Amino acid sequence: MISFTHEVPSQRVVFALGAVARISEEAERLSLSRALVLATPGSGGRLGARVVELLGTRAAGLHAQAVIHVPKPIAEAGLAAARETKADGLVAVGGGSAIGLAKIIARDTGLPIIAVPTTYSGSEATMIFGVSDGSRKVTGRDIKVLPRTIIYDPDLTLGLPPAVSVASGMNAIAHCVESFWADGRTPVTLALASEAMRRFVNNLPAVVADGTDRNARAECLVAAWLAGTVLTVSNGLQHKLAHVLGGLGLPHAESHAIILPHVTRFNLAAAPEAEARLAETLGGDDPAGAITGMLERFPIPHRLRDIGFDAGKIDFVAGEIEAQSIKAPRRVSAADVRQLLNAAY
Ligand code: NAD
Repeated sequence: MISFTHEVPSQRVVFALGAVARISEEAERLSLSRALVLATPGSGGRLGARVVELLGTRAAGLHAQAVIHVPKPIAEAGLAAARETKADGLVAVGGGSAIGLAKIIARDTGLPIIAVPTTYSGSEATMIFGVSDGSRKVTGRDIKVLPRTIIYDPDLTLGLPPAVSVASGMNAIAHCVESFWADGRTPVTLALASEAMRRFVNNLPAVVADGTDRNARAECLVAAWLAGTVLTVSNGLQHKLAHVLGGLGLPHAESHAIILPHVTRFNLAAAPEAEARLAETLGGDDPAGAITGMLERFPIPHRLRDIGFDAGKIDFVAGEIEAQSIKAPRRVSAADVRQLLNAAY
């Protein structure tokens, strides 16, 4: 018999072309008078500087030092910047790396976050944080890190390179696929995941063909939001594996994309309902094959060896995953992980 618990945390979402211009108004709604803007260096920093300008007197400064997987020293530097500037709020502008840094600062200070996402990571819609220390990445959940407001402006994504667009799109698709069999799924997460996948499948190829296609960009950004909201389900093999690989320094979105067809093939053997849903969304009767086909048409790395994975670490990863006793939709042994990683390598 159907049985579930579904909790909907409060979050304001503003979605429009040019919406970044409303940042000061949105900061005012949260009574922020000293917002620290967080971004990645380079082009992220340039966008961050623009947001500082738009915030005007409500800006406390720009800290453009976010790095993927939030290494501990980066988290500490971000916390120090928030304290030194006496920030009363955080504005994360960029992909999951900028948002991830804001989340760690918020976890320790309680400062409210406004997220202005420019990739499809979906992190802005989750209360999941992560920080990496040496070769291990630790993740957790805390309502304090859920951004209070998200400002989606498709114009900010027009310059996202095809490879980064595809990798973060596949990362979002991985959230959806895993949610079809994960513990904690509800009628709402199932419906949103199907809708997010449908929008990605229909629009990601158009984004790759023409990064300035505003309509396709907007559709993918909506899909990214929906995919992020689905992450209320428990993490399974897909996400746990991506986190262990991330701890080893591999790029997050690309790792997700590469392992997705392999994890899907492994899990669908024990998840007939998920298989039917995926077949409906992707078309055909071989969802894992359809995902492989999508990947092959996209300009991103297709094998773990292509993103610098050291095959000598297979036993380490297999041990880490086995220790997590994954049971849904099926048990995962170290031997299963070794086989999967060898195939993905
Ligand atoms: P990212 O934030 O590292 O961005 C990738 C690259 O693209 C960076 O160099 C960035 O500067 C650049 N970039 C971003 N937006 C751009 C734009 N519009 N135009 C041009 N360049 C742009 O990558 P990501 O995939 O968005 O995020 C990965 C991180 O997010 C990982 O640390 C991952 O663990 C985390 N993540 C967290 C969650 C969560 O729920 N907590 C979910 C997904 C991902």
